[in-house]
Amino acid sequence: MSAEFCKTCGSKCCRYFCFEIDEPDDYEEFEDVRWYICHQGATVHIDEGSWFISLMNPCKMLDEDGVCTIYDDRPLICRKYDLSECDQTMGDYGYDEEFNTPEVLMAYARKELGEDEFDYQRAKHRAKLGGATEKAAFAAVKRARRKSRKPKAITQR
Ligand code: SF4
Ligand code: SF4
Repeated sequence: MSAEFCKTCGSKCCRYFCFEIDEPDDYEEFEDVRWYICHQGATVHIDEGSWFISLMNPCKMLDEDGVCTIYDDRPLICRKYDLSECDQTMGDYGYDEEFNTPEVLMAYARKELGEDEFDYQRAKHRAKLGGATEKAAFAAVKRARRKSRKPKAITQR
């Protein structure tokens, strides 16, 4: 944050923070990321193959007018932030993927893991927590599959 220009943008870059997270590899890890996104102000995105979480939470050092109160002593990350590539200047960063809701994330997870694996893992984990065995969970997934493949009844006009 620097220069007169910053006074015009409402201090966008000081109203959230963002850091890299591990890329989810399996169903359980996608569930962890889903839990993050269930929280107010939390979004996750992929940028050049790396995963990040953003938390909308304004910096405590901003005053009522949106000015940094510790400007001369601001953290290094604020000092390194390049005005020519900032939120105000760049606008859209063109992320590979952006997950604003848990539904969008889980649709992505289903695609990445494959429908069968995703459905099986979900049923397995939920059944396990409910006390059922893995075998029972697998049977439940198979039953759901068969049901969804059944042709719909033809209605008479
Ligand atoms: S987003 Fe850009 S213009 Fe706005 S406060 Fe941050 S560095 Fe300044
Ligand atoms: S320390 Fe200052 S420059 Fe850094 S995020 Fe907070 S208000 Fe913005």
